[in-house]
Amino acid sequence: MATMKLPAFGYGIRYEYGMFYQRIVDGGQSEMTDSWLRYTYPWEYVRQDHLHRIQFDGRTTEYVDEKGQQRFAWVDTRDVMALAYDIPISGYENETVNTLRLWSAKATREFELGFFNQGNYIGAVESKMKSENISKVLYPADHKAEGRELRLRQEYFLCAATLRDILNRFLKKHNNLKELPDKVAIQLNDTHPTLVIPELMRILLDEHRLGWDEAWSITRATVAYTNHTIMSEALEKWPVSMMASILPRHLQIIYKINFDFLNELATRYPGDHDRARRMSIIGEEGERTVRMAHLAIIGSHSINGVSALHSEILKNELFRDFFELWPEKFSNKTNGITQRRWLRHSNNLLSELISSKIGSDWVTDLDQLRRLRDFAKDKSFQKDWIDVKRANKEALAAHILKNNKVEVSPDSMFDCQTKRIHEYKRQLLAAIHAITRYQRIKANPKGVWAPRTIIFSGKAAPSYFSAKRIIRLISGIGEVINNDSEVQSLLKVVFLANYNVSLAELIFPASDLSEQISTAGTEASGTGNMKYALNGALTIGTLDGANIEIMEEVGRENIFIFGMNAQEVGNLKRSGYRPYEFYQQNSELRGPLI
Ligand SMILES: *Cc1c(COP(=O)(O)O)cnc(C)c1O
Repeated sequence: MATMKLPAFGYGIRYEYGMFYQRIVDGGQSEMTDSWLRYTYPWEYVRQDHLHRIQFDGRTTEYVDEKGQQRFAWVDTRDVMALAYDIPISGYENETVNTLRLWSAKATREFELGFFNQGNYIGAVESKMKSENISKVLYPADHKAEGRELRLRQEYFLCAATLRDILNRFLKKHNNLKELPDKVAIQLNDTHPTLVIPELMRILLDEHRLGWDEAWSITRATVAYTNHTIMSEALEKWPVSMMASILPRHLQIIYKINFDFLNELATRYPGDHDRARRMSIIGEEGERTVRMAHLAIIGSHSINGVSALHSEILKNELFRDFFELWPEKFSNKTNGITQRRWLRHSNNLLSELISSKIGSDWVTDLDQLRRLRDFAKDKSFQKDWIDVKRANKEALAAHILKNNKVEVSPDSMFDCQTKRIHEYKRQLLAAIHAITRYQRIKANPKGVWAPRTIIFSGKAAPSYFSAKRIIRLISGIGEVINNDSEVQSLLKVVFLANYNVSLAELIFPASDLSEQISTAGTEASGTGNMKYALNGALTIGTLDGANIEIMEEVGRENIFIFGMNAQEVGNLKRSGYRPYEFYQQNSELRGPLI
């Protein structure tokens, strides 16, 4: 956005411990804390002037205001301060610098004073530490909702501090809150910041004394929601009981939003109680819960998915009822990546080669890369291209030798699957392929085999047992194959520890083959697929997420597509999927050929 000169702020939490550091010990993942602030971080600066009081817990009270209006207040709260740290995000060779503002939790003064006055020094420091826990650690699971209380507190902390910031800035220049949607757009990145909706309502109602209808129309016109996954275990649902104790006023507002919404449904679909049950913000199966995706949809004027296929699945399956009610709210915004980081910065050799042929306008206008087609058959360009790839592979091979103590040949095909470890992404499928390939080579060692180095990298959520077993399996496969002298020059399997952006910047430029093999219908978009393609790797993949749009762009003949499409996967699931039958019917899967 900075490169496009679009004024924007990014908001988040300044976690003391971000994503864990992964080590591979005896073939398995072990997690270590990554204290990234240990030596201070030079690009951030603290903004003592941007400090906001955030309320928690307490209770609601009712009163009648001067105009005879019934009003609510949130009282007897336990408060925490949110302190801003800013990181400048500069545009590419322009004069635009946007701000990434991250909130850090600080104890309030009175938090300590109460205890000090009772002469309880240790108690005072203890309670100070507890309140600062909110920004202590990132929950590292992806595609899995975390039901813990601290996570709900973190989400509200982000929403409340950010809205204070947005409204302070707005009110410096404007005095009519009706103009908020003309000046501010709040884009919810998944449901994690959905509490912005009831929090904005609370501020407009309780602090600015607006009427409900006016507050609701301002809120809906300001907020929009991007969905990132359709996996049921990732959809956030907070127990009503938890929300009642941490955010009692917000729960009250959510109930009123839901009451009005269910009334609207009753008018539109008289007697359709099943539809009302499906669409309600409150889930009534077992423990009563607040369904955050429903709240996000009802409180937004725009809802988007992140690839063409994913947006269709939202409309036709996951949010079908909402699409029937409000078809005009739904759209697609296919994810993207920036060529500044994923080509210009991370692959200097290829960048220089490209710029020597077509100039450097591609750095801010990616469509310019089409002009490379003129050189596709140019022998000297082809040679330079291969030399660049070879040099990048040597750099990755050096990393592998140093860290894995495995020697891999830069002349072998680098076949890469790097992404968070998850069953839906099917690292297991690639692992089984590695075994199959090994067995085929063993059965026919004199055959014609293109030498291959299979590279895996990715973190498993610490509590995700199956994902950790998959890491162990891959390590075990590598152990056998890399130590078998008969296949030495033909096959290697390595697992690179601690996949993060820095390691990714080393891998993508060195890749020949990009593995994008998720079960069709499960990967909302994928962005690793785009980074590999940008660095000249060929893609092998399923008709899933943005792979489909990559195929449409590069041509069906320039991508390796296999497997079922999303519809076929759905049909198989409905008719009953029995994987053991596939195992029994496939002799290569069933038994070693050795
Ligand atoms: C791009 C990227 C991802 C996302 O990869 P997918 O293949 O789309 O899941 C994850 N982690 C890192 C470090 C990345 O650079």
